[in-house]
Amino acid sequence: MKKKKTIIISAILFVMALMLSVSSFLFVDGVNRQLWIHSIRTMTETIHQGVNSLNIQLEDDFDVLEMIKVDIIKGDSSEFEEIMESYNIVEPDIKLYIRNNIDLDNHIKHDKEVCKYLENSDLERGVLDSHISSLTGERVFNIFERVYFKNDMEAYLVKEYRTKEIAEQFTLTFYDYTGFSYLVNRDGTIMVRSRHKNSNKTLSNIFDLISPQQNELNMIDAFKDSIYKLKTGWAKFNYYGEGMIFCYEGLRADSNWLLVSVVPEAVITKQAESILLKTILFLGVIVIIILIIAALFYAVKMQESKIHTEELQSALRQVDAANKVKGQFLMNMSHDVRTPLNTILGMTAIAKKESNNKEKMNECVEKIDIAGKHLLSLVNDVLDMSQIDRGKMILTQDDIMLTQLFEKVADMMKIEAKEAKLTLDLSIQLRNEHIIGDSLRIQQVLINIINNAIKYTPAGGHVLLELIQLEDDIKEGYGTYRFSCTDTGIGMGQDFLDRIFLFFERDRNTTLSGVAGTGVGLAITKGILDLMGGTISVKSEIDKGSTFTVDFHFKVQQQELQQEEHTQDVAVMSDSQKEMDDYTSKRILLVEDVELNMEIAEELIGTTGVQIEKAYNGKEAVELFAKNPCGYYHLIFMDIQMPVMDGYEATKQIRNFDRKDAKTIPIIALSANALADDVENALQAGMNEHIAKPIDMEAVWKILKKYITLSSKSPT
Ligand code: ADP
Repeated sequence: MKKKKTIIISAILFVMALMLSVSSFLFVDGVNRQLWIHSIRTMTETIHQGVNSLNIQLEDDFDVLEMIKVDIIKGDSSEFEEIMESYNIVEPDIKLYIRNNIDLDNHIKHDKEVCKYLENSDLERGVLDSHISSLTGERVFNIFERVYFKNDMEAYLVKEYRTKEIAEQFTLTFYDYTGFSYLVNRDGTIMVRSRHKNSNKTLSNIFDLISPQQNELNMIDAFKDSIYKLKTGWAKFNYYGEGMIFCYEGLRADSNWLLVSVVPEAVITKQAESILLKTILFLGVIVIIILIIAALFYAVKMQESKIHTEELQSALRQVDAANKVKGQFLMNMSHDVRTPLNTILGMTAIAKKESNNKEKMNECVEKIDIAGKHLLSLVNDVLDMSQIDRGKMILTQDDIMLTQLFEKVADMMKIEAKEAKLTLDLSIQLRNEHIIGDSLRIQQVLINIINNAIKYTPAGGHVLLELIQLEDDIKEGYGTYRFSCTDTGIGMGQDFLDRIFLFFERDRNTTLSGVAGTGVGLAITKGILDLMGGTISVKSEIDKGSTFTVDFHFKVQQQELQQEEHTQDVAVMSDSQKEMDDYTSKRILLVEDVELNMEIAEELIGTTGVQIEKAYNGKEAVELFAKNPCGYYHLIFMDIQMPVMDGYEATKQIRNFDRKDAKTIPIIALSANALADDVENALQAGMNEHIAKPIDMEAVWKILKKYITLSSKSPT
């Protein structure tokens, strides 16, 4: 769905880019045409300016001639020379040419070319074509005005222009001197050429630029006709394969002249091209940016969707793996639970049958006890697994004398080793004995590893336990303690070592050897060590043995603990000690809904001598507590899951009573709900502690010792 959306958005962006490209093309084409029109317009406008200034100058000069004419015809013909002299002071280029003057040929003051023209002319005023002056040898042209004297004498007032000077005025520069301008007459003959550095000096007629071989004749004729008629316009012709633009406009002021400018087409288009190029570049950059955005968008979205798919796949794989683990777990548990159950049920059946044979009965009970304990250890493993898995395992901070703890574990293990016909040695080298750690979990780690060493080493083998404190200095109050356990057992295959700390993994070598196990212990061991910040590694060789090495990082306590205190903490309470504690004067309330459980609890707890009153649900417990006076009960053992009112609610209600012992009476959860969350919920509901079923009398003794003060008098 997301992918489809990405493709659609990317496609829209691509179409946008495409549309922009097409419209850019049309736009560029339009701009191109506009630029062309604009260039032609600029040229014609420039020509027009040039023509205008020439028109103005010639008309002004004709006005001057007119003025002089009026002046000289007013007076006598004999006075004209005087008048002319006075005008010549300001207008030295104006001369009077007397018509039919026989001395004309010899007259040193007159240009013979002008004389020749004027003799044959019948025009009143006009402009003479340019020519070389017989007086100065320079190229000149003239304007003239006919004058009639009273005595029928005729003359011309003639003003002479040096083309060199006049050219300055209409030298129109086009496109960096690549365009030329000319003053031509109607026949195309060049009268005055602009003074451009690149101008063709040999060209005498602009039509010579237009070869009939390279251009259409009707176009040439139309152009010639326009020139002849002194029109205004423009035309394009080929000149040696190159386009040439001719712009022209006729002069007024009685001339038959036009101003023509010629510019190569390439020059015009080049300028337009440079503008266009910039425009195309600009539009091109925009199109490219849009395309890049579209491509990036597509790539990013595709990447996202790829990551998403990968995440989904990995989640699926995880779910799959979790399902497999679950399946494996159920399979293993079903098998592992059935085995001790089989023993329990089988032994119970035998016991029933052999009820008169006390010895056989004892044997059965002993086996039922072993199988029951095994079942319990399985359930505890499941509990640990769940706690580790959910990150709910909480470590305690106990004061520990490490040598004592280690020796106690080793002593327990020595018994098992002896039974398995193994020798077990230990060596300890510590500098700092007193550490802080979770005593039970440390023991669990050690026992798991040593147990395996004993389990997987055939009779006659040897197990060596070492505990050393590493040489490194204590860093930030922590020391490293290395425990290693080396056995001469069956060993493991190298490929298995990669999986050894995963749940339910067992080496083929082990399963073949037929040693019972669940493949859970080491995974739990690793989980506990991870939590403690410790590490575990293993080296093993088939049939040679294995070495497990554990590095613990413990907080070191500087002052040493009192031996006795510690012993009391970790050691199992001795029976004689238990006997010393007399609870017969104390009363507890036992809250339990299942009759059988009530019976077992009553029986077991009753062995401490304590008086027991019973309640079969939370409500009954609350009522009994309310009914009896303050201090009547010394402690409450409270089940959690019960009908009518559960243990949490009952505890809350008891704690809320407005009486002295409501807050102080010890309430201990005694429940089969033994997960970390259950313990937490029990404490939150106001209970003091939580002990798990099945009842461990060791734990019960500890609770009584901790919460019931023996010196206090019984309320009864
Ligand atoms: P269990 O021993 O209940 O099967 P563990 O998690 O303690 O489970 O051990 C996992 C596996 O590692 C064992 O099944 C066995 O294959 C192997 N293993 C552990 N310790 C040893 C050892 N000392 N010697 C040989 N194999 C061992």
